[in-house]
Amino acid sequence: MRRPALVVLGSVASIPTPHRYTQSILILGLKDVVLVDCGEATQIRLQQAGIDVVKLSAIAITHIHGDHVFGLFPLLQSFALRVRSQNLRKSIRILAPRSLCNVLEAYAQVVSTEVDQHLITCNSVDSIGNKGFLVLGDESLALMPIRVQHGDVESYGYVIKLARRPKKSEPLHIFISGNGTCDDQCRRLLKSIGVDIIVHEATFTKFEELRARITGHATCVDAAQLASELGSKLLILTHFSSRYNDKDLIDCLEQARTVFSGQIVLARDLMYIPLAMV
Ligand SMILES: [Zn+2]
Ligand SMILES: [Zn+2]
Repeated sequence: MRRPALVVLGSVASIPTPHRYTQSILILGLKDVVLVDCGEATQIRLQQAGIDVVKLSAIAITHIHGDHVFGLFPLLQSFALRVRSQNLRKSIRILAPRSLCNVLEAYAQVVSTEVDQHLITCNSVDSIGNKGFLVLGDESLALMPIRVQHGDVESYGYVIKLARRPKKSEPLHIFISGNGTCDDQCRRLLKSIGVDIIVHEATFTKFEELRARITGHATCVDAAQLASELGSKLLILTHFSSRYNDKDLIDCLEQARTVFSGQIVLARDLMYIPLAMV
């Protein structure tokens, strides 16, 4: 696999289907590997993508809704079992809203052999404050949480800064929105950073705009509008309603094209996107 790259592990909203699992995006940096969100059965998709779970350096969670976190416990158990049985010197860092760190800590107290605090640390986004980019490993990959609006749930998007080869070339900035929309403060911050690639939820088409507003989700047009405002090169749309068929997704793409002239990709599970040329 050529790196850096992005692999879609799950691309549907709320309810998994045989072809689309719930949310998860894998980022393959030059050295570090990071997961953003961990929907149900993410570890199966990880295996299908040919990535060993012990290669993960960090997991960033956007918010605590089930379609973004229900794969976390089984994946962490596999990680811990592999590290222990093979005596590997590995640990994993989780960045998440405090509510999720509390759930993980409560579980660790009851089943201490499976989610071990030495192997797995959970840092709540509010505890790290506004420190800018958090560097992972060898500095070829860093990430920054940015608050987004998703109903009344504490929710973050993540900007990921990725080094490219050769080393002197400019790093790539990817914004993964999680769920919801980017408000004025979020937009200002993203503009100041400069975002090359946006991975944005597009739960509904424009035909269901009212439903999107009521549920705190984004439409395909909302996603494209952000990409257009930021002057990004590539927009990857994901987190589609599980009711949607191919025709709905074509509608989504066509609606997004009316406001964004850059490249648009409709995410599919196990889609591999090399990033070096973006
Ligand atoms: Zn969701
Ligand atoms: Zn959600």
